[in-house]
Amino acid sequence: MELFSIKELDLANKQVFIRCDFNVPMDEFGNITDDRRIRSAVATINFCLDQDCSIILASHFGRPKGEFDPKYSLEGVGKRLHQLLKKDIIMAKDVVGDDAISKSKALNTSEILLLENLRFEKGETKNDAELSKKLADMADFYINDAFGVSHRAHASVEGITSHFDEDHKAAGFLLQKEIQFFSTLMKRPVRPFAAIVGGSKVSGKLEALVNLLPRVDKVLVGGGMAFTFLKQLGYDVGNSLVEDDLLEEAQKIMDEARRLGVKFYLPVDVVAAQNFAEDSVSKVCSAQEIPAGWMGLDIGPATVRLYREVLTDVQTVLWNGPMGVYEWDRFARGSNKIAHFVADSYATTVVGGGDTADLVQRIGLDDEMTFISTGGGASLELLEGKILPGVKALISKED
Ligand code: AMP
Repeated sequence: MELFSIKELDLANKQVFIRCDFNVPMDEFGNITDDRRIRSAVATINFCLDQDCSIILASHFGRPKGEFDPKYSLEGVGKRLHQLLKKDIIMAKDVVGDDAISKSKALNTSEILLLENLRFEKGETKNDAELSKKLADMADFYINDAFGVSHRAHASVEGITSHFDEDHKAAGFLLQKEIQFFSTLMKRPVRPFAAIVGGSKVSGKLEALVNLLPRVDKVLVGGGMAFTFLKQLGYDVGNSLVEDDLLEEAQKIMDEARRLGVKFYLPVDVVAAQNFAEDSVSKVCSAQEIPAGWMGLDIGPATVRLYREVLTDVQTVLWNGPMGVYEWDRFARGSNKIAHFVADSYATTVVGGGDTADLVQRIGLDDEMTFISTGGGASLELLEGKILPGVKALISKED
């Protein structure tokens, strides 16, 4: 799949609206704790500056209730942009109010205006036509570089695209890269191709699993979702996370894997805890010997060794979902070990956004991966085989 490229647009001296994803994590004092998403937008912004554009940046941040709330202001993001770009950032006090409109009209070449949090407008998440029109009217060109929100049909992501013809809209460099990686992964992976799938529940990854099966050579399952499969195989998994309504579905996936010749791996041992708590009594036991009432919260050392073995010959690895409750050190070992194997391998390694990206960053392995997605929900929808609403209007060529 190819998207309209920013490089093909005649941007010189024009006003450009760039939809970014500046939805960064902040601590309780309002400090940005991870600015990867802001840094990821710099390439596109600099490209527009090189073309002497005037630039309007827009993003959502957190979940305000459709009205101004200082807690969700983009002011902190503006400061970080100023540091990264070494340029003054003009802050608008609103999104499409008098302040934003007058500042956007007065914008000169190479100046940057940052609108306030798009979700201060109720119409943003409702894909409101009037709001998309007001946003579109601010600029000559529209660039989407907000991969993390491109699975949402929101006014600044989807609605706005209808106000620009194909010579006036395109994907920014970040969106382009994300779509390209996932598209190659799903259509032309270098084999053997392994998917490591974890996280809490089967239900969250069911569609992705079903869509991945015909494309991969191996699936390695970890995290809470493994227990639904193990229970279906007849193991007593104690109080581990199980979705009883998906037992049949789990069987279908295992049958389909067998039919397709896909090697389907489940944990052979786990770190089990007496209860769901960071300081709970815990022990390593085989997947067949989880004590009654206990729950598996991480994959065990034998599974770690097995998965390392299974990953030695692969050329492509996709990893989505932690192997255990990685937020708690005592149940993070499985995820950390797998992260090291993946990072050390010579394979192309693609890490889904959200928790998996978070855990890889926590242990400082982000530079060792081929690609880490900036969008958890968006990358999952790509794995499910969906076309993202924010990307649809930017497709120049289907595969
Ligand atoms: P997801 O959003 O589905 O990718 O799930 C990520 C969450 O799954 C993380 O917050 C983990 O703490 C949680 N998780 C991973 N393994 C387990 C487990 N064995 N039991 C309960 N929760 C788990």
